[in-house]
Amino acid sequence: MSTLKWGLIGASDIAATRVIDAIRSSGGHVEGVVSGSAGRADEFAAVHGLHYATTDLDELLGWDIDAVYISSTNDKHFDQACRALRAGKHVLCEKPLALTADEAETMVKLAEELGLVLAANHHLPGSPLHAKVRELVTDGAIGTVLSAKVAHAVLLPQRLRGWRLGQSTPGSGVILDITCHDASVLNPLLGNPVAVTAVAVQQAEWNTGGQADAAMTVIRYEQDGKPPVLAQTHDSFTVGYAETCLEVHGTDGTIKVIDAMTQDTKGQVLLTTKTGIRDVEVDCSDDLYVIGLRAFTAAVEGTGTPTATGRDGLVALKVALAAEESATTGRTVHIN
Ligand code: NDP
Repeated sequence: MSTLKWGLIGASDIAATRVIDAIRSSGGHVEGVVSGSAGRADEFAAVHGLHYATTDLDELLGWDIDAVYISSTNDKHFDQACRALRAGKHVLCEKPLALTADEAETMVKLAEELGLVLAANHHLPGSPLHAKVRELVTDGAIGTVLSAKVAHAVLLPQRLRGWRLGQSTPGSGVILDITCHDASVLNPLLGNPVAVTAVAVQQAEWNTGGQADAAMTVIRYEQDGKPPVLAQTHDSFTVGYAETCLEVHGTDGTIKVIDAMTQDTKGQVLLTTKTGIRDVEVDCSDDLYVIGLRAFTAAVEGTGTPTATGRDGLVALKVALAAEESATTGRTVHIN
């Protein structure tokens, strides 16, 4: 596997806590970072052992780098990704890819035209747990799929209770943050998302930003020759004591994944059929972000595809945007 040289766009928590290590573990080299603040850029570079720090994106794009990892706030992804692609860099962009489907579509088309890799850093679809669920479904282990349920209610860590909760940064709120991840798991499993109904509320007393911190969503999926499937998600920043979970129900059985929606690989896949409950063996030894970075590197080398392609990121975004619109209008929103 080749050594990709990376520039980081955004001095973010997720870069610091997960992705720098994952890039290095996948054989890549992180050259430097761009931040909106010179002080933050310098400190970030020093803490993480990076050669370069700048406040100028064009300067970063002029470095000898192959790829950029974008983990700025969601409102900046579109502009930064387009500039990086036009500068000839492959792009791994955090979710949500952009704030509108048109923007995300533009990013996808630009990457295609330029022959560059654009991927969304959805860490969950590459999880061995979810790969096993897709394999069981494809193999017919639960018969015809009827419905799915995602429990993704967590307590937002104190250090992240900034722009995610406020209305001053476009793209904040629990739906673009978490429902988007659920869609990245459900879409490859259930087919085409065609209609979304959601209710969102503000619950936490520490949430003074005005954005929704809890949402429940129902998504209708369709696939040629199969009955429609209903999926239900519960996404929250306010729940401290729940486990995350995915359930998939079919005519001949149910798959339950415990700890399905975390940043860590561990979890348990249980298959219930008429013969009883079986604990399905899954190798959870690889880090989810390393899996994503390896797949991205393989895509750049032309030997594989990203865990979530730009187009996968676009469809996940469409589901989240439909949920937002539904929560605001009180109506079911159809996705074309
Ligand atoms: P952070 O708040 O840590 O970083 C986002 C931006 O906020 C940074 O680019 C930085 O701007 C600015 N910032 C960071 N710290 C400070 C500070 N102390 N003072 C002022 N500004 C600051 O966000 P996250 O890491 O939580 O999220 C970044 C992106 O990653 C989002 O798009 C999010 O959706 C995504 N994400 C994805 C996850 C995944 O598992 N795939 C998990 C978590 C987040 P600057 O760069 O200008 O310094």
